[in-house]
Amino acid sequence: MDNRDVVIAGGGPVGLMLACELALAGVDVLVVERLREIDPTIKAGSINVPTAEALYRRGMLPALQEYQQQAFEQMKAFRAGKGPSGPPPAGHFAGIMVSSAGVHFDDPAFRDAGPARSVFAVGQQAVESILGARAAELGVEVRRGTEVTGFDAGDEGVTVRLGDVVVRASWLVGCDGGRSLVRKLAGFEFPGTEPAITGRQAIVDLESAEGLQRSWNYTPTGLYAHGPVPGRVLTVEFDGPPEDRDAPITADEIQGSLRRVTGVDVTVTAVHSATRFTDNARQATSYRTGRVLLAGDAAHVHSPFGGQGLNLGIGDAVNLGWKLAATIQGTAPEGLLDTYTTERHPVGAWVLDWTRAQIALMRTDSRTAALRDVVTDLLRTADGSTYLAKKLSGVLHRYPIAGEHELVGSAAPDFEFADGTRLGEYLSDGTSLLLDLSDSARLRELASGRVRVLTTKYGGDLTGVLIRPDGYVAWAAADGAVAGLDEALSTWVPQIRS
Ligand SMILES: Cc1cc2nc3c(=O)[nH]c(=O)nc-3n(C[C@H](O)[C@H](O)[C@H](O)COP(=O)(O)OP(=O)(O)OC[C@H]3O[C@@H](n4cnc5c(N)ncnc54)[C@H](O)[C@@H]3O)c2cc1C
Repeated sequence: MDNRDVVIAGGGPVGLMLACELALAGVDVLVVERLREIDPTIKAGSINVPTAEALYRRGMLPALQEYQQQAFEQMKAFRAGKGPSGPPPAGHFAGIMVSSAGVHFDDPAFRDAGPARSVFAVGQQAVESILGARAAELGVEVRRGTEVTGFDAGDEGVTVRLGDVVVRASWLVGCDGGRSLVRKLAGFEFPGTEPAITGRQAIVDLESAEGLQRSWNYTPTGLYAHGPVPGRVLTVEFDGPPEDRDAPITADEIQGSLRRVTGVDVTVTAVHSATRFTDNARQATSYRTGRVLLAGDAAHVHSPFGGQGLNLGIGDAVNLGWKLAATIQGTAPEGLLDTYTTERHPVGAWVLDWTRAQIALMRTDSRTAALRDVVTDLLRTADGSTYLAKKLSGVLHRYPIAGEHELVGSAAPDFEFADGTRLGEYLSDGTSLLLDLSDSARLRELASGRVRVLTTKYGGDLTGVLIRPDGYVAWAAADGAVAGLDEALSTWVPQIRS
């Protein structure tokens, strides 16, 4: 029988990211993916700072930049002849577009993310291609065209059924999307709120579309968006969830929804890609039961407003990968794997609420329209747009890690050292790193044999910074102090394998 450390159900972006993190740490992983090719359905159109940082740290920045360039070319084609584009948007909240022009980018929350800061317009398929190529480089087997059909989980491992084929694994991770079979069969609790809307997003060919406005638009019957890439349309109607979520999406359906919401007699002549969604918002109460774990949409579902789902899932994978690897290899500090749920559940809960708030503000009644005007005014102030930019970009994410210094719990800034190198260049091997920034013999003595140390210089007062494999700061201190380092090393750093 095939024996693996980990079987991952689902080779979407989250399954692939997790597989890369596990393989980098030397774990034997099998990804089982139902689809033969990357799903071409239009979904996420951009990534946030933590996602860009995660890929940058593992050497995937050039690929991100290449895909972003292609996206920019497409956007330029859509705008052609329509005048200057103005400052880029900071993002939107419930379709209220907010420009980046007033954002206080000198706010300390916008830490130095280095070159990762410059990549954002990278769509979901591009992320999946990049991760697929990286997984292949790392020797991960991605078994496409194969489904996880069932499993039996025990204390020692999981017997996973792929139709007639049986694989034995120490761990099973469900990265199998919003309707996760793994979640259902393992009996995870999945509480949340019922859906009120049907949304549709598609790439289509249109005729008689001159009356459609670009960007996001409210109408008496709903909300629609047009652009920023050619043929992209999105509609929202408050008519409850679709009767049959699996029914094929036709040109007639998209056209009908567009006509109802926009009031324009537009004709859809071809559908290149289309998806329906609702605002069903649910989250697993724990992301682990025994030897079965969940990550990505399998652990949380919500409407796509605010562009967080892909980012949330990539964050899960990056948080889980090193913890699961160390647990498998017997090098994990006690309780490390439990911190996966404690750290990631609150981030997911925030995203669910962020999307619920937007749905509340999208309702078509006149009281909500009045409230939307107030929120629009507030968001378009400098403080409002800065608030939105910080929330959407993910720079406010912090984990509840004990420690006095303000860096503890946040993603490490991409320090530029005195020799011109940057932190990101030292994180590609996926292990923890202790920066010795004040040539501290005491720090090196405490770290000896326990963690990789980089003695270097930069222009601040920090003694040192302990960075976990996921790029988050587990310890930092200034002015020569090393208090708390010993404990942080014991709590967060897997033992070095000889
Ligand atoms: C219209 C729309 C717009 C969106 N826009 C954004 C956005 O702007 N920004 C953003 O961050 N997010 C956005 N999202 C959300 C984002 O697409 C998802 O959060 C993301 O795809 C989650 O990744 P995942 O890997 O967890 O799940 P999925 O992408 O769903 O991948 C799961 C994979 O598992 C496979 N699978 C399922 N069951 C099995 C099985 N039993 N055996 C084997 N394989 C299986 C599936 O084929 C699939 O490939 C959007 C989503 C939609 C629908």
